[in-house]
This record gives sequence, C-alpha cells and structure tokens, in this order.
Amino acid sequence: MFIAHLPAGYLLTRWLQQRLKTTEYLWIGLAASILPDSDLVYFYFIDNRQTLHHEYWIHLPIFWLTVWIAVLVVNLLAKSRKLSIVSTIFLANIFLHLILDTFAAGILWLYPLWDKSFVLIDVPARYSSWVENFIFHWSFLVEILIFIWASAVLLKERKKNHLD
Ligand SMILES: [Zn+2]
Repeated sequence: MFIAHLPAGYLLTRWLQQRLKTTEYLWIGLAASILPDSDLVYFYFIDNRQTLHHEYWIHLPIFWLTVWIAVLVVNLLAKSRKLSIVSTIFLANIFLHLILDTFAAGILWLYPLWDKSFVLIDVPARYSSWVENFIFHWSFLVEILIFIWASAVLLKERKKNHLD
C-alpha cells in the first residue's frame, strides 16, 4: 500500500470508536495505521536499502502478536477499560496495516516458521522506481477507492458535527 494506510486507519478507528463507545484515541489509531512504515527511515538512511523493509521486525506479525499477548496479560492484571480500548485501537490498526501490505507488497505472516512472504497480487517491476510501479498498476485504484471512501466519511462527519 502506498496512500491508503492512513485513510484505512481512519475508517477502522472511527468504526472501532463506535463499537467501543468512545470519541477518543483517533490519533492513536491513525499513528498505528502508518507506524510500521516508519522503518523506511532505517531502510533509506541506515540500511542502504539492503533488506526489503517489509522484512524488518516492525513489519513482522510475530512481533505484533507477541506485543498483543503481552498487552492481553497486562489487561488481565490491570483490568483497565482505558488500556483495553487504547490497545484494541492501536493493535487493530497495526494488523490492518499488515493486511493491507499483504495486498500488493507481501508480509512474512508465518515467520519464523516459514520464511515466505505472502502477497495477494504481484506488481511487476516495469519502471525503474518502485513508486511508479505501484502508481501505474491497477491495484492503485483500490487505494484511491479507500482514500475516496475515507474522505467521504470524514466530510459527512464534519458536516454532521457542523449541524449539531
Ligand atoms: Zn507497510
């Protein structure tokens, strides 16, 4: 995914807020929806593009599964509604990011058991830049649709809040 992580995170977080009966923590959902791609800083400036950035620990489901289990244990002990809501919004958006990356880029879902990247559709390398490869592929239309969907929901909510 290229442009759809943030709008998809917005849609998921707004849906979760309704289910969890809260109006808070939107920014946590939005931050989590793009957090795994913060490894691009390491990819470009430290690793010199030696490793696919989807293979870094921040894009590994096993890492986030471990975090999820740790949070569940803490939630069981703390019994905090706030912690439960925040962790649900945060981790749901992390896993949404990984699911969306599985669409056209690939995620190591079974690592370390299986060193194979799972990807739904293959985006061929027709251009010298990976950005062009993604933008000029039909799968980018899916990203545009998610962006339009999130924009429509945002505008509808703003209009509603304006009228209230
Ligand atoms: Zn990513």
